[in-house]
Amino acid sequence: MNRPHESKIINGVALGRRILQEIKRKVEAICQATGVTPTLATVLVGDDPASAAYVRTKDKRCREVGIESRRIDLPSNTTTDELVAEIDGIAHDRAVHAILVQHPIPTPIDKRAAFEAISLEKDVDGVSSAALGRVILGMPAFPSCTPAGIMSLLTEYKVVLDGAEAVVVGRSPILGRPMASMLINAHATVTLCHSRTRDLPSVIGRADVLIVAVGNPRFVQGDWIKPGAVVIDAGYNEGNIGDVDFDSAVQRASLITPVPGGVGPMTIATLLEHTVAAAAQQLGL
Ligand code: NAP
Repeated sequence: MNRPHESKIINGVALGRRILQEIKRKVEAICQATGVTPTLATVLVGDDPASAAYVRTKDKRCREVGIESRRIDLPSNTTTDELVAEIDGIAHDRAVHAILVQHPIPTPIDKRAAFEAISLEKDVDGVSSAALGRVILGMPAFPSCTPAGIMSLLTEYKVVLDGAEAVVVGRSPILGRPMASMLINAHATVTLCHSRTRDLPSVIGRADVLIVAVGNPRFVQGDWIKPGAVVIDAGYNEGNIGDVDFDSAVQRASLITPVPGGVGPMTIATLLEHTVAAAAQQLGL
């Protein structure tokens, strides 16, 4: 039976699966050509349960596609110097092609120093200033996985960005900022909103394409949204709840991502896509 609004739902699970199948083929080809298995090292500091769950899912997906996943688990009382030394060691390890430093990182640690220790060619989540700068300038680098995954969804659903009014809510270095840059590079007219933005509903009401990355459950209301807008909800709050009030937003949107099943699966698929590309580059393929 057709559920109401089903044709409006952006299916991140289906696209994520297709990308994983493609990655599996590429991993096999790399192994055959070089005898080397693409390897992703994940550094997890502390015991944040959401991060631990994400890392478990990521490990499982790595196994499914043949990527070797190395875990470096550090206690929450790790110092900045210890973390930087650990990352520096992996950055110089030729057997590791990609590095993910899982966030959130416990607050006493200088996370910027940790991110800067990741070498550009292994920075598959685009967290270093070098990677973000290159993304802003449209130069080759691995962009942050969540906004990159969102761009893949927009491409898959043939959303026209050239000349479109895009509004991004949230300006974090891993999500809102690279997202805005990638949309600018795709020729959208972009407004980047944050907690000091005045009259957010009216700014959101201008959006042909709305990306929400705030971390506040059901924050964006359906009646703020322009009829026919494409709505991408990057939010992931406790209880699998997004940042957009889905039930009211789906009435107005022409396309919308659900939570779960929209942006989330694309983040991991994109991370593994970047890992394989990093391995291929480092192996001279
Ligand atoms: P973050 O670093 O906490 O940033 C949140 C942003 O939202 C900040 O820029 C903040 O503004 C802005 N904001 C907060 N309250 C606001 C308000 N009332 N009006 C307008 N803007 C407001 O969060 P993040 O790491 O970017 O993550 C955002 C969401 O995405 C979270 O739900 C997170 O779980 C989710 N996420 C999902 C994935 C995925 O794979 N699906 C990956 C990463 C993150 P200020 O800068 O002014 O403080």
